[in-house]
Amino acid sequence: MIGIYGGTFNPIHSGHLRAAEEVVAALDLSRMIFVPSARPPHKDEGDAIIAPADQRMAWVELAVRDNPLFCADAIEVERPGPSYLVDTLETLGRRFADEELVFVAGRDAFCEMGSWRSPGALFAACHIAVTSRPPVAGGRLADWLPESVREDFQLAPDGLSGRHRRAGTWIRQLEITALDVSATSVRARLRQGVSVEHLVPQAAHAAIVSSGCYNDASAGAAPGTR
Ligand code: ATP
Repeated sequence: MIGIYGGTFNPIHSGHLRAAEEVVAALDLSRMIFVPSARPPHKDEGDAIIAPADQRMAWVELAVRDNPLFCADAIEVERPGPSYLVDTLETLGRRFADEELVFVAGRDAFCEMGSWRSPGALFAACHIAVTSRPPVAGGRLADWLPESVREDFQLAPDGLSGRHRRAGTWIRQLEITALDVSATSVRARLRQGVSVEHLVPQAAHAAIVSSGCYNDASAGAAPGTR
């Protein structure tokens, strides 16, 4: 079974790597593919800077290179138009026709998936592992399964997992070690010129900091970073 870890990775941080590490172990995945979103249609970044996609992609590649079970895929970066997950899963499903795919989402992202493009097809396309995401822990899938797909799933009596009635795909809730790191907090620290050592992967640290992507806009952000 192959994991698909989607995200804006703006920038990739230690919370992402730790979550991926624990999901690989919990589900005995053969690999985890990190898929940076080029133009996230659902991400309301407000006035936040989104670093260029090729820059975020390069950081992810640096971050995963020392783990033989991790790899990065530019499928969304190279595809024109908005980065719809349902399109990505269709392509990956064809590419790995003999494998089962499991999409990995933190609980915050999972709760929004009902508003992503074609939720009916999305939830039938692959399994979904929903990890805890600090500061929230606990809770039950039964309480936050998106309304638009609720009828499609038969929930387990404990409310922690569910199976798609027709597609056979499952959703499983995984409690992972809480690392309260977010890309938002990393960007804020970089903007303030405060250290992000050990909050971002060591292998990508120098590249993220030296890019200047998240410098205070008034101090002159790198061109094309918005
Ligand atoms: P931002 O702060 O800009 O909203 P983010 O830190 O949530 O970004 P994303 O790239 O949007 O990072 O997240 C990609 C995926 O990683 C999502 O499914 C998200 O829930 C998950 N994730 C992010 N940070 C953590 C963390 N600290 N622990 C567990 N999962 C996380």
